Amino acid sequence: MKHRKRAATNSHPFYGDDAEIKRNRQKARLLRKSQWWKRQCAKGRCHYCGQPTAPNELTMDHVVPIGRGGKSTKGNVVAACKTCNSKKKYLLPMEWDEYLQKTSKDSNQ
Ligand SMILES: [Zn+2]
Repeated sequence: MKHRKRAATNSHPFYGDDAEIKRNRQKARLLRKSQWWKRQCAKGRCHYCGQPTAPNELTMDHVVPIGRGGKSTKGNVVAACKTCNSKKKYLLPMEWDEYLQKTSKDSNQ
């Protein structure tokens, strides 16, 4: 019974991408446990809006989402406050860029 590996792929044309996504989710989970991530949270600051945020309020965010080919690497993962994280989810990439420009201006004051 070792020959069933491809049986379920008929209903799933993006099997390759899906495996990649799963791998990156797994890597994200490991990264979240790392000392490096603890240091990111310990800064107590949201990467996007720069607002002081309690370490336990910071969430892990992928700059390029995993679903769009982003990887779970230190270069693509930032600590974001919940506001930014949820905004990023529902805004279009263009709207998100505008939001970033606005917030970076605000935090320069
Ligand atoms: Zn933020």
